[in-house]
Amino acid sequence: MEVKKAGMAESMLDDVESLPRGGFRCRLCHVTVANKPSLDDHLRGKKHQRLESLRSVRQTQELRSVFVSGFRKGTPASELSDYFQTYGEVINVVMDKDKGVYAIVELQDKEVLEKVLAQPQHSLGGQKLRVKPREKKDFKYTQPRKQGSAKREQLSPKKLAQELCQADDVDAQMSLLVQQFEFSEGERRLRDLLVTLFQEVFLEFFPGSAILPFGSSVNGFDVSGCDLDLFLDLEKTKKFQASAKSPIEPLDGVSPEVDSHSEDSILSDIDLASASVPEVLELVATVLRKCVPGVHHVQVVPNARCPVVKFCHKESGLRGDISIDNKLALRNTCFLQLCTEADERVRPLVYAVRHWAKQQVLAGNPFGGGPLLNNYALTLLVLFFLQTRSPPVLPTVARLKELSEDEEQTVVDGWDCGFPKDSAQLEPSCNTENLCTLLAEFFRVFGDYDFVGCVISLREGQPLPVPSILVSEASSKLKLGPLNLQDPFELSHNVAANVNEKTALRFRRCCQAAAKYCRSLQYQRKSSKGKIWGLVRLFQPGTAETEAPAATGLVIGLPLTPALLPAQTREQLCQAGDLHWRWFQRVCSGITFVLKDVLRCSCLKVREGLEREQGEAAERQQGEQQREATAEQPLSAGRKRSLDEEEAAGSSSPSPKRLRTDPSFPEEESMAWDCAVWHKVWLGRRRVRRQLCGPQPDPQCPSGSLELEAKVSEAISWQDGEARPADPLLQFTIHAQAGADASGGLDTRISLRFEPAPEHAAAFQEFFHFLQGFLPRAVEQRLVSEA
Ligand code: ATP
Ligand code: MG
Repeated sequence: MEVKKAGMAESMLDDVESLPRGGFRCRLCHVTVANKPSLDDHLRGKKHQRLESLRSVRQTQELRSVFVSGFRKGTPASELSDYFQTYGEVINVVMDKDKGVYAIVELQDKEVLEKVLAQPQHSLGGQKLRVKPREKKDFKYTQPRKQGSAKREQLSPKKLAQELCQADDVDAQMSLLVQQFEFSEGERRLRDLLVTLFQEVFLEFFPGSAILPFGSSVNGFDVSGCDLDLFLDLEKTKKFQASAKSPIEPLDGVSPEVDSHSEDSILSDIDLASASVPEVLELVATVLRKCVPGVHHVQVVPNARCPVVKFCHKESGLRGDISIDNKLALRNTCFLQLCTEADERVRPLVYAVRHWAKQQVLAGNPFGGGPLLNNYALTLLVLFFLQTRSPPVLPTVARLKELSEDEEQTVVDGWDCGFPKDSAQLEPSCNTENLCTLLAEFFRVFGDYDFVGCVISLREGQPLPVPSILVSEASSKLKLGPLNLQDPFELSHNVAANVNEKTALRFRRCCQAAAKYCRSLQYQRKSSKGKIWGLVRLFQPGTAETEAPAATGLVIGLPLTPALLPAQTREQLCQAGDLHWRWFQRVCSGITFVLKDVLRCSCLKVREGLEREQGEAAERQQGEQQREATAEQPLSAGRKRSLDEEEAAGSSSPSPKRLRTDPSFPEEESMAWDCAVWHKVWLGRRRVRRQLCGPQPDPQCPSGSLELEAKVSEAISWQDGEARPADPLLQFTIHAQAGADASGGLDTRISLRFEPAPEHAAAFQEFFHFLQGFLPRAVEQRLVSEA
């Protein structure tokens, strides 16, 4: 329903939309007001006026600019400017700096533009130029969230914990979490620019094509640095190509300017209608490699569930995918977006659950595939939970269909995807539960859920018992498994089909532990003594798991994922092959760094692989020998073994290899070290840290850094008497193990089992307790800083 008010400018009318109960929304500024006087205030106000004039500047710039390509690489802007000056004044030339393959030339006015476009052929320095009007785009204003660079500086887990602890209650913690993770204004702008750039270039090669972003960049669950999912819609291009082949058959009454017969057109190489998806993707990859500035590591992945071309944007490190056959994802993206707009509790709740699941290594497969829930599936689980509250926070998908208008009835690939475009069409929820309660309830509900016996249906907003669901034709094709989560639109698709039994079980266990914690005062109330509280404890890696202590013994889990590495390092890791093993090695080298260089322990690699294969007895014997060897080394009386010596000793043993320790587990990586601690480096660290930092922090050695931690250990050793004592305080063996799951998927968690020398077993407890808190954080820091 549009407001028609006398005296309002045409564009203003388009901007204002009336809402039920007398409210209004300004589409330009994304502002909702309660009544007409407030609307008038808004329209007269600074913000609206500023955006209106910005829009008109952008639009006039667009209307008088041309997109130019075809010139020789390295052509200076001045040459282009000189050339176009012959038609009238040139205001500005924006060159693509990286590959130098296109430019946007802003002319003085529309008249000059028309003169330029009327010229059938342009050439510069003997090269034929392609000159086209610029794509017209709707002006979109995106809410300034935080000023900043293209990519938000990621808060360290420690800093994040500190910030969260300062909030007043759990609800405030959750809102803060969203602010910390969502895109900065700069990052959003960068993504918009990249999408525009792709659009311009692809239009050049695939006339009529459109580049449409989907996934977390646009669905309301953006996290700084998340991938950029793009869909290249070639429908119109196919029609153009077909019409260009048949004698003039204008499309929609407009004869497209398709150059598909010319020898330099990429379309002359391929028939889009009959080409296979991998063939088209190869072509897309070629365009990306050769013509899109700043893009590298282009790779076709033809065999994924949804085949894509992967790429990386050099300057920002952004990773992205382009798919050509993924219309349902565009639709489910709009659905997620609608849910975030329907209720303001959706975003904070999803961000909190996602972060918790990431920390517990339950979700977010770092390289695609693997046995963990992906973020889409996890988000659906939260939405389903909100549908099942009483009263519901969100409507079911079936209800959304009822609420949608005729023109919103969409069928994609045969699936009913009808739902309202606008959240204003939805009934507001009567549910008044706060975020703190909802999160606790999420854990309670899924801690005790029959994932195997039912299919979670967002369409119906209820679990459907497995035998009965099989009656429906679409649902009968669902691939059932330990966790059954039906896609809200593609009803034959279980979005959690990749989740294996082990992960499903861990998910339930982690939910149970989290639910238990949420019942405590530590979750519900801010600590008055400065202790961690609320979400912070939930987000501690590994703490939510409840495994039988007898089974785990002295075990520290390192729930690390390659996602914490910069995109480039991650890519190198992927490309080097045998990803699992390389990741394992990287973490192991982080562990030894922390033990040796930060905590001043000695640490000697043990020939674990062989011993394991030859049996436990041999392993124990070898362990003893190694321990003796450690003691026999001239480590005492003030001489510390150099790192080089230790490395050399380590490398003299054969490199650890893949083992089979348990027939129920497939291949596993494992490694072990014999270690010794010489000083009580775990005692009084905070005091020493304070002394070292003093009132003036040292910029070379910032607080919380591993450099500072190493100095703390050194200072403690000096206090103890600088020299190493004749005998170590504690001796112990660490066994590191990373397992692939039963389906052979990637599990990047590494567990460390500590085995103290029998005579040190009691004293070891204190040191172990310290390591539980210290080691996971320090190893993570090392991996990040080393990358
Ligand atoms: P992030 O990239 O932060 O992990 P995301 O939502 O973008 O989150 P992707 O794995 O990149 O997740 O997937 C992009 C989009 O593709 C999803 O948002 C969703 O729209 C769609 N999608 C992903 N996985 C599935 C699936 N199993 N079934 C249907 N659609 C999916
Ligand atoms: Mg994504």
